[in-house]
Amino acid sequence: MNDNELKLSFEFFPAKDPVAEEKTWESIKKLENFNPQFFSVTFGAGGGERLKSDSFVKKINKVSHVPVAGHLTCVDMSKDEINDLALGWFEKGVKKIVALRGDVREPGKKYYPHSTGYINAADMVAGLKKLANFEIAVGGYPEIHPDSKNKQDDIDNLKRKVDAGADKIITQYFFDKDIFLRYRDTVTNAGIKAQLIPGIMPISNFKKIKNFSAMCGASIPDWIANEFSNLDDTPEVQQFVGASLASDLVKELKKEEVNEFHFYTLNKYELTFAVCSRLLSLQKSSNQINQTKGEVRT
Ligand SMILES: Cc1cc2nc3c(=O)[nH]c(=O)nc-3n(C[C@H](O)[C@H](O)[C@H](O)COP(=O)(O)OP(=O)(O)OC[C@H]3O[C@@H](n4cnc5c(N)ncnc54)[C@H](O)[C@@H]3O)c2cc1C
Repeated sequence: MNDNELKLSFEFFPAKDPVAEEKTWESIKKLENFNPQFFSVTFGAGGGERLKSDSFVKKINKVSHVPVAGHLTCVDMSKDEINDLALGWFEKGVKKIVALRGDVREPGKKYYPHSTGYINAADMVAGLKKLANFEIAVGGYPEIHPDSKNKQDDIDNLKRKVDAGADKIITQYFFDKDIFLRYRDTVTNAGIKAQLIPGIMPISNFKKIKNFSAMCGASIPDWIANEFSNLDDTPEVQQFVGASLASDLVKELKKEEVNEFHFYTLNKYELTFAVCSRLLSLQKSSNQINQTKGEVRT
């Protein structure tokens, strides 16, 4: 495997009903074609959601050749409950985990740790690493996490997670390449060595993304908003624009030697498939050019 080989991963959430489940599995099957590093499954803190995440992780593990990473959050769970879930996965061969603090269910309410739970992601990473040889990814925030006091506080928190044993960092999504590149510099300058993977969110519904971004602290540049300004009544056109913008973003990052990407698929393959196909063809062309240069030299 050479250093600039593309590595892709795709995130899904447990489907809410049978129709959505069918679409999710169709998307998993389509995206398997890219031989991703892993599929990841988000975690919901509520009892029912927890069970759905658990069984979805186990089902992907059983039916797909692609490794699965289960997300876990600290919210509303004791350490023992989290450890039992994680060990159950490990015994079935699921050795990748995305360890997160999670959020309180009512938007806007402050997070408090569970009385016998992990206090945050760093604490969970340390606990899980003691439990078994998991490969653990944590969240990173190119525009800082809304609960961080400032940039330094945010990067100190990231460093604690990596010092606790995290192997990889998957970022919150962002829409401007410079935001990621500046973050990469900050992470490197802080001496954080874990691999940094940009989280890519192709926009399929601008209004929904705008509302969600306001909560999670991801900014939407004016030029992106302008791209969607006349498309409220044409959701199908939004898909084309969203795929095109995400494709431009990953191509620009690729030029900056970013070779691994994590896609927030929202359980639909179309936009992510289009973006990854274009990325792979770019990679193929650049490999061909390099090969031709090598042949000319010899
Ligand atoms: C790649 C990725 C995947 C995600 N997947 C999921 C998912 O599956 N399910 C889900 O519910 N959410 C998910 N999230 C969202 C995530 O749970 C939230 O962003 C959450 O607010 C922070 O989680 P963290 O692991 O980054 O927290 P941490 O890194 O632990 O902390 C984030 C911030 O909170 C502060 N903080 C930490 N501990 C405390 C404390 N005890 N009291 C007060 N403040 C504290 C830190 O200083 C820091 O500013 C995901 C996010 C990312 C980036």
